[in-house]
Amino acid sequence: MKSIPSEPEVRDWTMLVDGEWTTSADGETIPIENPATRSVFARVPRGRDADVDRAVAAAQVAFAQWKRVPTRERGRALLRIADALEARSEEIARLLATETGNALRTQARPEVRGSIEMIRYFGGLCGEAKGESNVPVEGTINYTVREPLGVVGAIIPWNSPLIVAANKIAPAICMGNTVVLKTAEDAPLAMLEMARTFQEFLPKGVLNVLTGFGAECGVALVQHPGVGKLTFTGSTNVGKSVMHAAAERVLPVSLELGGKSPNIIFPDADEDWVADATIAAARVTRQSQSCTAGTRVFVHDSIFDSFVSRMAEKLSAMKVGDPLDEQSDIGSLINKKQFDRVCAYISDGLADPAAHLVTGGLPPTQGPLTKGYYTLPTIFASDSNDWRLAREEIFGPVLCAIRWRDESEVIRMANDTHYGLAGFVFSRDVNKALRTAHSIQAGLIQVNHGGAPYPGQSFGGYKQSGLGREFSLEGMLESFTVRKNICVVLRD
Ligand code: NAD
Repeated sequence: MKSIPSEPEVRDWTMLVDGEWTTSADGETIPIENPATRSVFARVPRGRDADVDRAVAAAQVAFAQWKRVPTRERGRALLRIADALEARSEEIARLLATETGNALRTQARPEVRGSIEMIRYFGGLCGEAKGESNVPVEGTINYTVREPLGVVGAIIPWNSPLIVAANKIAPAICMGNTVVLKTAEDAPLAMLEMARTFQEFLPKGVLNVLTGFGAECGVALVQHPGVGKLTFTGSTNVGKSVMHAAAERVLPVSLELGGKSPNIIFPDADEDWVADATIAAARVTRQSQSCTAGTRVFVHDSIFDSFVSRMAEKLSAMKVGDPLDEQSDIGSLINKKQFDRVCAYISDGLADPAAHLVTGGLPPTQGPLTKGYYTLPTIFASDSNDWRLAREEIFGPVLCAIRWRDESEVIRMANDTHYGLAGFVFSRDVNKALRTAHSIQAGLIQVNHGGAPYPGQSFGGYKQSGLGREFSLEGMLESFTVRKNICVVLRD
């Protein structure tokens, strides 16, 4: 007798509202696909207006108490959450790799570790909400206090959901705010698991985590009159609509948006470690699905061929495959829409007579990689910064290597973009490197390394890459508190 193949197990998840794990008000769900196998393996609630109403109401009630909790207790709660997450980090990393397609070893584990570090960092900053004081006239005291803003409405993307969420939740609740966070529809699960640990150490309603579509749950959250602050990370176009909604109510808003970051390689930097750091800067192990990806690689004419082949050799040696396989360097893209989009950009590059394919190209049409949304790391070489592939945020592992000859020309090309999130510079000549770093119009410049920002380094964009800063003490104070000035006259 033939055995009937069993359906892959599809687990139903709930979301966190007022300390309870709940379905959506109307019971509808959204399927969650594993991008490495293209199969649905989970369903989450399809949150809408009624769910946002409940979550915001719960966060408003919780705010009245939470803002009064002594700062050291709020800090201690965050430190405990970080320790408890440490014990669950492997389980959460595997879930993150499964839902995002990001490779476990190179990406998902480091993201969980980074998120825990971020929570711990903010846990240690609770006593830092200091104001200023002065005595403008004898007999008066003028001082400021920093107060929380109320309910923070936070919206996150799918590409690095935990680190982005940790950077919103931890500073917000550290300063006495409460939070309603909307996860991204493609990758909500690791965030829900992280929320489970937050909930163990927080009073109900301090953190609420919703799942749902942007056009339904996201819109309802940004327009909700009970929200006192909006923080959004995602695409520039949606960021603009969030800013419009904030403008209607004159609400403080932080936006962390897209990018197309330049990476400038000087003639003295034709070295292996620079090629490795350039691959890291281009976030290739996250399939370049990163807002800071340095995918416009400006290489000096004198080393162009040698440096670009160095990079091509390294990229072609990287293993693309199952995100859960310890051998995989690179996993799969997030979904079919992104896969089709990235393939369209590659086809565009292949059809352009001014561009030359150095490595990669369209994904294979046969073999194990066709099981998921896998793409190959790809480099196109060109002399121009003006073509579509060099101007638009691809959000896939497609690098443009662009030749330059003089410093002013490369700085002009680097800045010739409406984005300004990050930039990378490689040279052993500190004068040149720093002169260039100061000339790039972007919020984060890495010199001689391709890593992500460290906790404590303010992070945010210039131009259409965003507004406001997060990741740091200054970012926390700017983004999650409001200053009040109190002027006292001492009477005899
Ligand atoms: P997206 O803008 O489509 O979605 C981001 C989030 O916004 C999701 O949770 C989505 O559901 C929600 N959303 C969508 N439409 C909405 C609406 N009208 N109102 C309210 N919420 C809405 O972006 P994405 O495709 O998920 O993520 C990729 C983008 O995010 C890229 O442009 C990337 O550069 C950017 N990003 C920026 C940073 C940063 O720190 N600057 C970090 C990560 C990603």
